[in-house]
Amino acid sequence: MTRRNRLAGVRFRAEIPQELDPGVLYVSMEHSTAIHSCMCGCGHEVVTPLGPGSWRLCYDGETITLTPSIGNGALPCRSHYIIRESQIIWQRGNPDPNSQLIIEERHGA
Ligand SMILES: [Zn+2]
Repeated sequence: MTRRNRLAGVRFRAEIPQELDPGVLYVSMEHSTAIHSCMCGCGHEVVTPLGPGSWRLCYDGETITLTPSIGNGALPCRSHYIIRESQIIWQRGNPDPNSQLIIEERHGA
């Protein structure tokens, strides 16, 4: 598995697609949610709801910043990273318990 150091891109979509391109952050304003395939390359879907008390998305027209950090403590890979200006900044240690994710398992298409 290859860790990414940068987003491959950002796509704004009304509906979240079934197939996620690796490294791409998908943003649905309609659902106030961002979703991406785990940046470690394990292929798990990472869902980050947007809103007060959850994640905050900043788009400057070119790059994306998502705060707080993304801690995939519920995934086998236990990835922990920050997306800042579309750079993936890998964190050491355990994910922040305040940034636990809702992991959606999708079965079939
Ligand atoms: Zn992972």
